[in-house]
Amino acid sequence: MSPELVLFDIDGTLVRKTGLWHRQAICEAVRVVFGITATTEGIPVHGMLDPDILTLMLLAANVEEAEITARMPALVAAAEDYYLSVTPELPDCHCPGVPALLDSLAERGTVVGLVTGNVTRIGWRKLERAGLGGRFRFGAFGEMAATRGGLAKLAIARARQEGWIEPDAKISLIGDAPQDIRAAQENGIQSIAVRTGVTPEGHLEACQPDFLLPDLTHLDLAILRR
Ligand SMILES: [Mg+2]
Repeated sequence: MSPELVLFDIDGTLVRKTGLWHRQAICEAVRVVFGITATTEGIPVHGMLDPDILTLMLLAANVEEAEITARMPALVAAAEDYYLSVTPELPDCHCPGVPALLDSLAERGTVVGLVTGNVTRIGWRKLERAGLGGRFRFGAFGEMAATRGGLAKLAIARARQEGWIEPDAKISLIGDAPQDIRAAQENGIQSIAVRTGVTPEGHLEACQPDFLLPDLTHLDLAILRR
């Protein structure tokens, strides 16, 4: 059992500049399932769950919410299928310090997981293409709960049920958006914010994370343990 659990957001936290294929996949899902041509322009995708992005795009195209909900599984599957068919290798897109930090956590025996708005197969493929495949034991992904706080709750429950972490393990959530900070706070776990995403100046401070770092090269491993 590990005395610490570290949960990572993906976009803007582990990797960046990988959004093109992801946005294309979301648009392609809307086209395939509803026959509608739409874009993510004007939608504040940063920090959002993929199903929420899809919902906003379709509401903007005057699709009824009940119909969107009913067809969400098809939308998710279509986005994943497209993403897996087009996404190339994604070299040089790690945020600073990520591979070294993951090496250190592996050496310490830390349980490391994902809490991300990416839907499952997109999240896993993105990390694999970025050279980070096999680094994370498990994840809570965009389609698994209605909010990021709900995703964090699922991830924590899973780690406990599997017996991966000690009962009083310290749990941290690392992310680049206000939503990541709120998700940690809703679950009573440590919030570590990083400035490697596109969150405007001041917005992270306003959420009062436990730690706010320029990037992950500044993470002191001591704060992850009691
Ligand atoms: Mg993010």
